[in-house]
Amino acid sequence: MSTLEIKGLVASVAGKQILNGIDLVVRSGEVHAIMGPNGAGKSTLSAVIMGKPGYVVHAGQVLLDGVDLLGLPAWQRAQAGMHLVMQYPSEVPGVGITDMLHEAFSARGRDTHGLAAAVAAEADRIHFPPALLDRSLNVDLSGGEKKRNETLQLALLQPKFAILDELDSGLDIDALRDCARRVEDATNEAGALGVLAITHYNRLLEELHPDRVHILVKGRIVESGGPELADRLEIEGYDKYLKAVRL
Ligand code: ADP
Ligand code: MG
Repeated sequence: MSTLEIKGLVASVAGKQILNGIDLVVRSGEVHAIMGPNGAGKSTLSAVIMGKPGYVVHAGQVLLDGVDLLGLPAWQRAQAGMHLVMQYPSEVPGVGITDMLHEAFSARGRDTHGLAAAVAAEADRIHFPPALLDRSLNVDLSGGEKKRNETLQLALLQPKFAILDELDSGLDIDALRDCARRVEDATNEAGALGVLAITHYNRLLEELHPDRVHILVKGRIVESGGPELADRLEIEGYDKYLKAVRL
């Protein structure tokens, strides 16, 4: 059982303060959705949690089982059990997915025997065409193929916590279902993945079954609730929050 605890997080990028004090606790097996208008700071939150260069933290902590991640480079955060599914997955020419996973497994001290078979089985499970496994990472893949590819990596790496930054963007209905169900399965299987799912759409949440939904506006969580909050947002939009929050 692991806990990801974000406490009083204040951060800026390019001299502009974007996160204005974020508090959030996610435990193993839980799915927390983060919804909010464009520019609210959702991707910034994911970048700060993972340690993307260029972001300055002014206050707060990001604790994984009590250990503050903020002093660690991104690769050490990943080794500690954090994983980001990027909104726009990077293309890495010359590096195949199995090569990349081989390196990642080795770096974690995990056995790489049978990795190729595990990759093939996982590809089958999420309907990622096996012919694409020989391609360089994300190179010349469609939006949906990239997200299936990202989901495949997540499933095999088995992190403690995954942040999904708009996993649903660029996905057709079948791909959305396959990817979301795979993530949902991971929350219920051994290891009990904890998930922070950034999304604009209920369709993803219908598959992911969030325990909590948080609304992020202008760098603050302005309301938290159960799945019914996402339903209400669909009808009401963010207007009332945008009017209420002044900085
Ligand atoms: P969201 O994901 O909620 O749509 P972001 O976190 O991407 O929002 O962006 C929040 C704000 O921070 C926006 O105003 C955006 O323009 C700004 N921002 C994000 N990243 C950078 C950056 N690298 N340089 C300058 N401004 C940035
Ligand atoms: Mg974003």
